[in-house]
Amino acid sequence: MKEPIIIGNWKMNMIIPDALKLITGIKNKLSGKHDAEVVISPSFTVLNSAHIALADSNIKLAAQNVSFADKGAYTGEVSAKMLVDVGCEYVIIGHSERRQYFHESNKDCNKKIAVCLEEGLTPIYCVGETLAERDAHKTLDVMELQLREGLTGFKVHDIENLVIAYEPVWAIGTGRSAESKDAESVHGFIREICASMFGGVVADKLRIIYGGSVTDENIQSIMKEKNINGVLVGGASLVLEKFTKIVKYNEE
Ligand code: PEP
Repeated sequence: MKEPIIIGNWKMNMIIPDALKLITGIKNKLSGKHDAEVVISPSFTVLNSAHIALADSNIKLAAQNVSFADKGAYTGEVSAKMLVDVGCEYVIIGHSERRQYFHESNKDCNKKIAVCLEEGLTPIYCVGETLAERDAHKTLDVMELQLREGLTGFKVHDIENLVIAYEPVWAIGTGRSAESKDAESVHGFIREICASMFGGVVADKLRIIYGGSVTDENIQSIMKEKNINGVLVGGASLVLEKFTKIVKYNEE
């Protein structure tokens, strides 16, 4: 298993000056050794400036979305090649806000994962059930469908570096994180499905991360779980003290 990965999803926040201020703070506070790979995911408009500002650090960049198409007449879209061009190494795909507001389906996610792999970008594939699905005890069915449809057609070597983010929709931005034990059992199930699709060897190495109201207060209990290999952080990633404490979860 690789080192844990901690990703800050800035969503549609921060213009360039604010972003550069936060990046400077993060770099200063994380200049020493820490146990996790750190990735930040600003808006498209900030990526180039962030890339330049991060050049002398080991903090990596993720985009929040990518076009399924590689180039051409797709007004308003941003291709995987363009993301590589501005220094991205990761792309968040299928975030629940994109599924909810932009009607992205598992099949759309599958196409987006394919274009990322083609360009050498690592997809962070988000899956997660809504509150209604959870209440109807459909969490595992939803996970299985999102994984089987989103990851169909790929080979073992394609998904070796993939990151899967389990983000229960009801926990995102609500202040109501999943209980670590509950998240752990869904993560275990996600690993089983991946093993059935790609074999146990690769599934055991996949980083499956949790997202949904992660804070500097609940990070330690989340990271204690065996099948939780990092976190995707929204709101708390915009606050310097909180994000850097989350990254240093092992030090306190
Ligand atoms: C997210 O946006 O992926 C997320 C998990 O948000 P929050 O941490 O604010 O719940």
